[in-house]
Amino acid sequence: AVDLLTFGEALVSLRSAGPLTAGGALTMRLAGAESNVAIGLARLGHRTAWAGRVSDDELGGYVLRQLRAEGVAVDHVTRDRDRPAGLMFLERRTADLTRVRYHRAGSAGSALSVEDLRPALAAGARVLHLTGITPALSDSAREATRWAAEAASRAGALVCLDVNHRAKLWRRDDARAALAPLAGYASVVVASADELDLVGEPGAAEETTVAGLLARGVATVLVKLGADGARAYTRDGVRHAAALPVTAVDTVGAGDAFTAGYLSGHLDGLDLAGRLRRAVTLGAFAVAGDGDWEGLPRRDELSLLDDLQPGSTL
Ligand code: ATP
Repeated sequence: AVDLLTFGEALVSLRSAGPLTAGGALTMRLAGAESNVAIGLARLGHRTAWAGRVSDDELGGYVLRQLRAEGVAVDHVTRDRDRPAGLMFLERRTADLTRVRYHRAGSAGSALSVEDLRPALAAGARVLHLTGITPALSDSAREATRWAAEAASRAGALVCLDVNHRAKLWRRDDARAALAPLAGYASVVVASADELDLVGEPGAAEETTVAGLLARGVATVLVKLGADGARAYTRDGVRHAAALPVTAVDTVGAGDAFTAGYLSGHLDGLDLAGRLRRAVTLGAFAVAGDGDWEGLPRRDELSLLDDLQPGSTL
């Protein structure tokens, strides 16, 4: 058994330095919310596995190589001979505006099914992490996600659901119809303040949605607040965790890093304050460096940002 199992679609991301219509060099990176979380935990020394479908070509090979290089087990990945890799273009249109364009419809990752996940679930995991992105990919991926959540919770694993709404993939009502039932299998639900009602009633206040989730058996609801940190709700009440004061250079991946930090704290048996501290620490590492996951800390680097002044030399 591994400490953490996660699954979803890993994408090849291609970043431009300027408008895409102008062409020029593109930088190739691994992207994907679930693979970001897997890497975050693997860097901290937890035994971590990622499952999913990847194309049976060089791009699929690239995805697997990146995950292996980061110490994420890929034993239960399916190679898809017929479908292409999912791609994501990140166009730096202006210094302040990056546009995202997906080429993922019909991709290998979107064809995920229950059969792809069965071996990974059978091998066992202490924590199963899933996101609201996977059910948006296809009917089979939605069924696979629901099946995995149910199987893991029945096996006694901690199930963590990050709502992670992707407005380019589906409408809010469709997302809510799929994600609200999924939250019933989860012990931990993570969401940004503006997406929390996707696991509750449309437009419901934060407190109302949280009360509903706690009543359905969710133990912890984490609301991410960007540079303002996060709120954590449990049956004992609400606790706020401040973000660490760092210079933000690239905020993509902050939420995934935050979740990885929280789950690492859980695996280490930390109390809520300790889990939140690790969550905001990983979030800070993610925003303070380029890339979605490249800047995440190894375990011996966890205290690197404590007491740091801008421009520090160590
Ligand atoms: P994304 O979708 O870009 O990954 P998100 O919206 O899911 O991000 P955020 O709320 O932006 O997630 O960030 C998650 C956590 O990362 C925050 O709770 C905070 O701890 C940390 N964080 C985010 N922005 C900053 C910042 N500017 N400075 C320090 N920490 C930050």
